[in-house]
Amino acid sequence: MFSEDCVFCRIAQKELPATVVHEDDRALAFEDQNPQAPHHILVIPRRHTASVASLDEEDRELAGHLLLVAGQVARDRGFDSAGYRVVANVGEEGGQTVPHLHLHVLGGRSMTWPPG
Ligand code: AMP
Ligand code: ZN
Repeated sequence: MFSEDCVFCRIAQKELPATVVHEDDRALAFEDQNPQAPHHILVIPRRHTASVASLDEEDRELAGHLLLVAGQVARDRGFDSAGYRVVANVGEEGGQTVPHLHLHVLGGRSMTWPPG
């Protein structure tokens, strides 16, 4: 599914520019335009789905794939050994601003907990 008014669908379609660090048949990873850490990568499915909340049984393999891509990106960019964070914001109270599922992969600094 593709949504013309979805910014991440448009990035996946190469209609909008992004600094892509990984792509395959199901997923894309690119640099966040407003990085919150020295490394801040977003991992998205090519196919539009809104968030973790919209995943269903059919998405089981895709959901696992996105996590594997997150780990792969951290390894490829060399910030895995120090530790990093993978997080998905879901919906309004979760702080989600772009309604296309994405994993934030943040690294290169010490993280704090709990998040704000
Ligand atoms: P969230 O608030 O979890 O929905 O995260 C959305 C993220 O997407 C934010 O960190 C934004 O900086 C990032 N973002 C929004 N538009 C773009 C874009 N065109 N290219 C790269 N990152 C973007
Ligand atoms: Zn989309």
